Formats: sequence, C-alpha cells, structure tokens
Amino acid sequence: MPKTLLLRLGAAALASIGVWIAHTQNPQAPAQLKLNKIANDLYEIEGDGGNVAVYLTDEGVIVIDDKFERDYGDILGKIKSLSDKPVRYVLNTHQHGDHTGGNAKMMAASVEILAQKNARANMVETKMPGVPRLSYTEETEVNLGGKEVIARYFGRGHTNGDVAIYFPADRVLHTGDLYTIGTSTAPLTVSPFIDYSAHGSVVEWTKTLDGILNSGWDFETVIPGHGPISNRAGLVEYRRNFEKMRDSVSGMVKSGKSRDEIAHTLTAEFGWNMNGMGGRSLDPMIAELKQN
Ligand SMILES: [Zn+2]
Repeated sequence: MPKTLLLRLGAAALASIGVWIAHTQNPQAPAQLKLNKIANDLYEIEGDGGNVAVYLTDEGVIVIDDKFERDYGDILGKIKSLSDKPVRYVLNTHQHGDHTGGNAKMMAASVEILAQKNARANMVETKMPGVPRLSYTEETEVNLGGKEVIARYFGRGHTNGDVAIYFPADRVLHTGDLYTIGTSTAPLTVSPFIDYSAHGSVVEWTKTLDGILNSGWDFETVIPGHGPISNRAGLVEYRRNFEKMRDSVSGMVKSGKSRDEIAHTLTAEFGWNMNGMGGRSLDPMIAELKQN
C-alpha cells in the first residue's frame, strides 16, 4: 500500500475516533435536529440520536423514540411548532439511550411510555433512567383521536427487544435500529451494531427483517433508526446486503480465517468501522457464527 494512502487511512481512522470520543464524552454538545414532513399528520425529527417520528391526532401526539435527554427541549419545541396538543404516548423501538434518553423527562410531563418487554427488562438490568410503566410481548396498538399506531415484535437482531412500528393510514414503517443508514458507499452504508450485551443476534437479524417484510403490513415509506428517510426497496436491499455480509463472515469463520482477516474483509468490502460499533460486534459475532 502506498505510504500516502496509508497516511490518509490513518487520518480517517483518527478522525472517526475523534468523532467517537466527542460523541461519547461530550453529551451536552448542542444538537442539530431537523424536522422532515412525511405526511400531513406524520413528521420525522432527524439528527443527534435515533430518528423520532411525530404523529399528530386531534387528541394528542404520539411519538416514536426520544433521542438523548439533551434533545428533549428541541424535540418538544419542534412538536409545538406542529400542534398545540400535548404529547400523550411515546413508543420506544428498543432500549438504547439514543432512543430512550428523553423518557424520564417525558414521564415527568405525564406522557405514557411503552416498550417491548425485553427492551424494558434490559433497561431495568442496566439501571437506565426512564423505564416505561407499560410493556408488551408481541404487539401493542395505540388508538388516539381516531388514528392507530401498531408496534410489533418480530424477534432478535440489533437487541432482543426491537419492535417495528407501523402507521397504517400513512403506509409508513419505523424500523428502529434493525435498519440504519450511514454515509459509506459500501454495502450496508454503516456497521450494524449487534448488541450482544442486550442479546442481539447476527443469525436472527435477517429472519426478523423477513418477518417485517412478510407481515402483511402495507408500507412504502420507511424511517430507519438512523439516517435519511428510506422506502421498502431500501429495506429489502439492506436485508440482502446484511445476509451477504453474514454469509461472507460465516464462510471465513468456517474455513478457519483469523479475526484480523475477517476484520479486514469487513472493513474493505462492507465499510465496517472497527473503531466504532462494528468493532464491538466483531468478536461475539464470530463466536455466534462458530455455533451456527
Ligand atoms: Zn440501538
């Protein structure tokens, strides 16, 4: 490899470490949130933590995920610019702090929060703030102001408590972190984070996506856990690339390739960031694939 390229790669790696450190050690940095309209009654708030969906009804607002605690004021301000009705419910797609960080403040403002039972248990186990009062195992619906939102558990993937959330009237799906979009041009566009500490699974992940795609839910627009608004075809492609990545790693594991060789392939062919979530997922993923 030419030295200049090595230097450039080194600089890129340092830059991404810098971003990572800034992200984890400077939680009070001002957030830049952007409000996107999806339908007359459905909006998305992008930036900082996970993507938030805002569903307006005559009897109040239903919100999906609430980013970090520091984003609470900004989220509320954006919702107030759309509706004079109060937020009534928050549905968490899973327990991670960039999707549930506003829970405690929402609860203090009398908002009812719902999470899948495993996601709630993970919050209790890791002593996270803002543990929801209500949970469910398979499916729940929120019916408010003549509108309906459905959250359903399809199995393990990113964690063991991810749900997909469906807005039937607008044909929109929020996937949480079962589908995320990054800025890399490589397949998957960003390292998927398989959170083994929360019982995630690289093997089950595609089955869970198949469950969503074969659910009978009629959706076209897809809000991923992170990144720009997508669609059904984007989700199908992500599922295909995810399987390609897993088959590639599985083949290398079975032919006795080393951890370094596997890491190199993931970085070179799938754009994984070994300094970030991709690196954290690598060893337990290899261990899971050895047994499957
Ligand atoms: Zn997550």
